[in-house]
Amino acid sequence: MDNNNQSNSLTDGTGGLNRRKFIESAGLGILAVTAIGELASCTSSAQNLPSQYPKTMADTIRIKLPPRDAETEQKEAPLPAIVEPQKRIGFAIVGLGSLALGEIMPAFGACKFAKPVALVSGSPDKAGKVAKQYGIAEKNIYNYQNFDQIKNNPEIDAVYIVLPNGMHEEFVIRAAKAGKHVLCEKPMANTSAEARRMIKACKDAGKKLMIAYRIQYEPHNRLAMQWARDKHFGKIKMIDLVNTQNIGEPGQWRLNKKLAGGGSLPDIGLYCLNTARFILGEEPESVMASIYSTPGDVRFKEVEETVQWQMNFPAGAMVSASTSYGVHKSRRYRCYGDNGGWFGLDSAFDYHRLRMEASQAQGKLETRMSPDMGEKNQFAIELDHMAQCIMENKEPYTPGEEGLQDQIIMEAIYESARTGKVVKLERITKTDAFRGQAPKED
Ligand code: NDP
Repeated sequence: MDNNNQSNSLTDGTGGLNRRKFIESAGLGILAVTAIGELASCTSSAQNLPSQYPKTMADTIRIKLPPRDAETEQKEAPLPAIVEPQKRIGFAIVGLGSLALGEIMPAFGACKFAKPVALVSGSPDKAGKVAKQYGIAEKNIYNYQNFDQIKNNPEIDAVYIVLPNGMHEEFVIRAAKAGKHVLCEKPMANTSAEARRMIKACKDAGKKLMIAYRIQYEPHNRLAMQWARDKHFGKIKMIDLVNTQNIGEPGQWRLNKKLAGGGSLPDIGLYCLNTARFILGEEPESVMASIYSTPGDVRFKEVEETVQWQMNFPAGAMVSASTSYGVHKSRRYRCYGDNGGWFGLDSAFDYHRLRMEASQAQGKLETRMSPDMGEKNQFAIELDHMAQCIMENKEPYTPGEEGLQDQIIMEAIYESARTGKVVKLERITKTDAFRGQAPKED
């Protein structure tokens, strides 16, 4: 696994505009900073790739148009460099629920290297309609019983598991056995034991396993990560994170322990946990947690309502996180530096309209900034990253091991809440210990 690429993730190796330097040079006193990608280039991004791969990035097609605005204006993002459809990585989408139909299928329209080629569903009527909407052949519709037949379908390179959490293990393992790469939704599984079995199955089959941590691919969250690592406002000593929503219908799978694994913690609290680890690039050494579920609330018969926990990180950062299924939606975090500033996002974890915010001391002024990198489709970036990793035979940035680490920490959070004691975790000193190849910037 390549862990040395993190610091290069926002730099430009092609002679274009360096995004990190641009943000840094935007500097003091600017109230709204807008940063965009590097300048367009006519060159192929992967000309030297081996030609034996059936699907290849070597044929990335780039188009450059003449500039319209003066140099002083906000730079426009380059036109997308795209691989022609027959050379893109083909995905089978497993489970046609709200995420698959509301976000993932539409996101393929913004993908450059990935395309949908098959559907897996327990509802043939719905699958037939979705297949028509997206031009997917009827022969490429599967159900949960005949799923293993995907092994005979060469159009399917990878499978995207978008099922209830308690079904992830079974379908990741079946996909790996069918010889397909796997992208699996978060949380990876219900337990660390399941996560380990999923990693093993993919390794045994020689297939890639990526967990769909979209926040780690989203540009504003990546800028926050870079600012933390660069000590933009000094060393990060504190982070607080919140992810809450008021959940409805008591009969849904999210409130069923077997299908969900837990309540607010694995579903939405996981964003706080995973984002803190991502921002710092470190692993917590200990956790202390407490849980509360309103007595008599039928929604919380099997899973928890509210969790609050603290994590101590090796370089001294103290992280506090809160999640709940019982209060109004709020999805935000703030990182506090020891050198005149703080930064964070509010909203941090939504699909759209994320907003970065920062505050910096400037002599007699306290200056508020709202760095704006423009909106990118988070699901398209993540699908394209998986496709690129398959094409170039690289380890995904968020592989199974990244998901396993979250499962281990969530188990420690539950243990701490149960015992009322601090739970110590294995001391891990390596930076980005579980991450693979950093995603490429446009
Ligand atoms: P939904 O309930 O909307 O959809 C789940 C789908 O799974 C169903 O529509 C159904 O599809 C299939 N399914 C198969 N068996 C069952 C079962 N026993 N009970 C319910 N559904 C079943 O869930 P979401 O789309 O919201 O979530 C799916 C996964 O995606 C979860 O792991 C969740 O944590 C994750 N997620 C991730 C998000 C992110 O931002 N990364 C956001 C939201 C969810 P069919 O009818 O086709 O068989």
